[in-house]
Amino acid sequence: MRAMVLERPGMPLVVREWPTPQPGPGEILLEIAACGVCRTDLHVVDGELTKPKLPLVPGHEIVGRVAAIGESVSGFALGGRVGVPWLGYTCGVCPYCRTGRENLCDAPLFTGYTRDGGYATHTIADARYCFPLGEGTDDAAVAPLLCAGLIGWRSYQMAGDDAALGLYGFGAAAHILAQVAVWQRRRVYAFTRRGDTAAQNFARSLGAVWAGGSDEAPPEPLDAAIIFAPAGALVPAALKAVRKGGRVVCGGIHMSDIPSFPYALLWEERQVMSVANLTREDAHEFLDVAPRAGVRTEVTRYSLERANEALTDLRDGRLQGAAVLVP
Ligand SMILES: [Zn+2]
Ligand SMILES: [Zn+2]
Repeated sequence: MRAMVLERPGMPLVVREWPTPQPGPGEILLEIAACGVCRTDLHVVDGELTKPKLPLVPGHEIVGRVAAIGESVSGFALGGRVGVPWLGYTCGVCPYCRTGRENLCDAPLFTGYTRDGGYATHTIADARYCFPLGEGTDDAAVAPLLCAGLIGWRSYQMAGDDAALGLYGFGAAAHILAQVAVWQRRRVYAFTRRGDTAAQNFARSLGAVWAGGSDEAPPEPLDAAIIFAPAGALVPAALKAVRKGGRVVCGGIHMSDIPSFPYALLWEERQVMSVANLTREDAHEFLDVAPRAGVRTEVTRYSLERANEALTDLRDGRLQGAAVLVP
């Protein structure tokens, strides 16, 4: 197998050739067809998430086909198309796992962070955390659903059901969730970097009723806002934009420091909350909703060997939609 490997945070990934591993009990071997590039990968590669397995194969939006099946695995057939998300393993016995909150497990493993992921031609996954994807859709187009979609969906659920929804940072997750929200007849307000007219036009093309800079006030108070961009300054900005009792959901795994702000921005029962990881239930729900909502992803393809370039383009905000590696 061939992989793009992180040997030291802050350094570019390097190409490595390894013997293709065989799946152990409970595992499957996947031949990877596509792997999305998520902002979390940047936080891992840049060293902002501080506990990666090293050396590490990043990548947790994996679409692959089953190439070998380990002992005591059921529900998967050779050649079947399968998705592998960020949640790679949970303990099943901690207080969080026992109360339906496996996203907060005390002893989890995360794909492309604490176990090897999908910037490769092959990967081994724990079958219990893999999802059959069926066929009939483009592999690269499906990949971003596996994190931008799934964790985006968890954030979306946390934001509540009301009509006026703000999305701060119009990248991979927002461009997927905007389509779900429009399908549910909600009004989407898209906030981008100031002056990013390309992203604002992209948001309008997906049905946003308004798009502007994150320093602008929307034309009506928002019921809720989801922040996908990793900028702490957006928290007080979003609080300013939501109505009384409104919610601000932070959807990312890492954010720059939140500046201090007057209590008046939080008062009147506004809430700030964060979303961590995903449960398998989130995945089943979203993989059912996405096709019904007619979600179409906009992807830019890179060969596996161009992973560093894809990460740079994401870091520099040059992408519309999502980057996907195709081995
Ligand atoms: Zn647990
Ligand atoms: Zn991700």
